Amino acid sequence: MKASGQCPKCQGKNIYTDDRQSKRSDRSFGVDGWTRLFVSMYVCTDCGYLEEYIDSESLSNQKKMEKLKNSWPKIS
Ligand SMILES: [Zn+2]
Repeated sequence: MKASGQCPKCQGKNIYTDDRQSKRSDRSFGVDGWTRLFVSMYVCTDCGYLEEYIDSESLSNQKKMEKLKNSWPKIS
């Protein structure tokens, strides 16, 4: 949905996001005691489906992402 701009549920193309470079999302979660990753939402205004992603600021922060990779198990 983030990459395609299309809703996977209703195939709608009216996708909105609160992911903005200039403003930090108010939702976050802790990777460890010091590192928090911020979360942005992508919402389909046709059916209401929403997806959550790490926001672009956190995703481009290599130090934070390395912390997650070192703290969380990789699946499969
Ligand atoms: Zn939809």
